[in-house]
Amino acid sequence: MKIGVDIDGVLVDFVSGFLQYYNLKYGTDLKYNDATTYYMEEAFGLPQDKISSIMNEYLRSHAFVRMQLIPGSKEAIGNLSSRHSLHIITARSSDIYDRTVGWLHHNFPGCFSKILFSNSPGLPKMSKAAICKQQGVSILVEDSLENALTCSAAGVTVFLMDCPWNQRGQLPENVIRVSDWQEIVETLQKEERFLTETL
Ligand SMILES: [Mg+2]
Repeated sequence: MKIGVDIDGVLVDFVSGFLQYYNLKYGTDLKYNDATTYYMEEAFGLPQDKISSIMNEYLRSHAFVRMQLIPGSKEAIGNLSSRHSLHIITARSSDIYDRTVGWLHHNFPGCFSKILFSNSPGLPKMSKAAICKQQGVSILVEDSLENALTCSAAGVTVFLMDCPWNQRGQLPENVIRVSDWQEIVETLQKEERFLTETL
């Protein structure tokens, strides 16, 4: 099975890393649990240009490549990559393509068969739903509610990592809210056993 895997909020704790950087720089105390939307300027009532400028700085910092992995992600990805074809599907800017690919090779060596950017250099921007359809990805692990809903409408099953910024509204049947990677591995193993037993 082809499984799509997002990076930020799924493999790495981007929000905690960014807030830590921001708090250190400005002496503030912005908290992870208050990030109740995907957009920091909205969640914390900060000017968009201030967020954009510090975000650009953060993406080029040492702190960015040293962000904490999401607990259990390394083990789960290692486990799943032995039985499935794992594709990274990220909306990260292509400006940080090399840093991202280097980081993936360092932390998850040999685990991903493809690394796909929805913003590839020189190519038109693609939605994650379009990438999943084009690549035949049937399951996506994601933290953005917006991406989860568009992919689900395109027939992709989504494991939605439970985060403060994806709590709004009812989820469709094919969007499964999960608390951690272990839950994803266990759900997939149950499904694999069911399929083997019923074949
Ligand atoms: Mg994400």
